[in-house]
Amino acid sequence: MSACKTGAEHINSLKDGRTVYIDGKLVPDVTEHPAFRNSVSSAASLYDFQAENVEQMTFKPEGANRRVSRAWQIPRNHAEMVQRRKALQAWAEVSCGFMGRSPDHLASSLVGQRIGLDVFKKHGEQRAKAFADYFEEASRNDYFLTYVIINPQAERGKDWGEQAPDLVAAIVDEDSTGVTIRGAKMLGTSSIMANEVFVANLQPLKPGEERLAFSCALPMNPKGLRVLSRKSYEAHAVSVFDNPLSSRFDENDALMYFDDVKVPWERVFVYKDTDMCRAQFHDTAGHAYQNYQAQIRLSVKIKFLIGLAHRLTESIGTNAMPPIREQLGFLAANASMVQAMMAGMEVEGNMRGEWWVPNKHHMYSAQVLTQDLYPRVINTLRELSGGALIMLPSSVQDFADPSLRKIIETTQQSAKMKPEEKVKFLKLAWDAIGSEFGSRHTQYEMFYAGARFVTAGHSYRTFDWAGATKLVDDAMSGYDLAASLASH
Ligand SMILES: Cc1cc2nc3c(=O)[nH]c(=O)nc-3n(C[C@H](O)[C@H](O)[C@H](O)COP(=O)(O)OP(=O)(O)OC[C@H]3O[C@@H](n4cnc5c(N)ncnc54)[C@H](O)[C@@H]3O)c2cc1C
Repeated sequence: MSACKTGAEHINSLKDGRTVYIDGKLVPDVTEHPAFRNSVSSAASLYDFQAENVEQMTFKPEGANRRVSRAWQIPRNHAEMVQRRKALQAWAEVSCGFMGRSPDHLASSLVGQRIGLDVFKKHGEQRAKAFADYFEEASRNDYFLTYVIINPQAERGKDWGEQAPDLVAAIVDEDSTGVTIRGAKMLGTSSIMANEVFVANLQPLKPGEERLAFSCALPMNPKGLRVLSRKSYEAHAVSVFDNPLSSRFDENDALMYFDDVKVPWERVFVYKDTDMCRAQFHDTAGHAYQNYQAQIRLSVKIKFLIGLAHRLTESIGTNAMPPIREQLGFLAANASMVQAMMAGMEVEGNMRGEWWVPNKHHMYSAQVLTQDLYPRVINTLRELSGGALIMLPSSVQDFADPSLRKIIETTQQSAKMKPEEKVKFLKLAWDAIGSEFGSRHTQYEMFYAGARFVTAGHSYRTFDWAGATKLVDDAMSGYDLAASLASH
């Protein structure tokens, strides 16, 4: 047995009879289906990467007989947090940051929740034990987990409890062995290539909505769990040359429908408690850690996009022009801002019990700012490109015809690149920013952590307003009307 989980092991673990549908058909094996197989293979490559870089990427939990991803490591200090982050960054580089829900996302969420086990204990000893045992199981086995924590978008003007019957996942039955869940959760990104799904409720619930107030973990193959994939960009990719990102890193997003799924009590972490649904993420370090991971990944993706911008200007020979340099300078400043905010979350973190937790307000600031930044970076790339991204051969097949190839070689001129290299580069750039895959990424970065009013609300709640307003009050305390009048 290898020192840690390998890609082949991960692929085998997905052949578990899960019920995934695409284009009206049941998928017999996600690891072989043309809609998913390359993305599954990219997910597996993360485990091969860690098996090849054991010291950098893995650690051995106490008492374990095998090493697992550092994503499961709970940092005891700033140095360990940085060591863990470097492993997460290295993983993000495998997909240029385009796999948003790589296994370290949920591992980070669970690490943060495990730090706050006291919060689960207040909810109930049994539920806390279930969560602690599950953390042990998931981390020891280096599970690839995804989560569904958001309800299907339906009628925003109504409370969750008022939505149509069987829409929002709810507890519909229970007995001595567990609870039964019916209804949906919005989008399980990466669920098709994950081992298990963590189900919870992050959106505010009201008293009376206890049926909706639960959290649990499930393997991807229980009876009744039906996974409805969105359109596969991988299946519609023309070739790796034409769609280098869509063809390999389409992590997928799928609606999860719980058609009377039984969950044993050992895997129920929150039971009919509306406030505990919030506390599970916000009173533990769960929300802080999961979104800190998202910023680590984004730091790689933004750096990649800025690399694309630089190559783009080189390819069309605009990079030495002062206004273009200015735009590149702004992009570079933004990339560094993302890095610096990440470093700020780490260095200005704090101890919670025996563990180091990232600075929560810095994390929310990063979330608010990068949610706006991403579409602006994409737009700048478009501005820098002009029609270059469109004046491209329809597919690799055009190169197979010698007469067409000649025309391509005559017309794809560049200041820096040979015609074939230019076409290859521009197809990569379009896949990142303009293809259906690229467009989904803009939607992802704008919404994965909630709409703007949600992220800005977190920023508002966690800012040091007392400190800020004290500065204002102190500034006013040194003078008053009477003294000013007297001095005239
Ligand atoms: C690509 C992608 C992948 C995702 N992956 C996952 C996943 O893996 N797991 C998961 O659980 N979820 C996932 N999500 C869901 C994501 O968390 C939600 O999309 C996000 O929380 C926003 O919720 P919503 O889509 O219901 O939009 P809404 O909250 O309905 O927002 C839509 C628009 O309406 C406005 N709006 C709505 N209500 C109000 C209000 N009360 N006040 C002011 N404005 C309002 C918003 O500002 C926004 O402009 C994913 C989403 C995307 C796009």
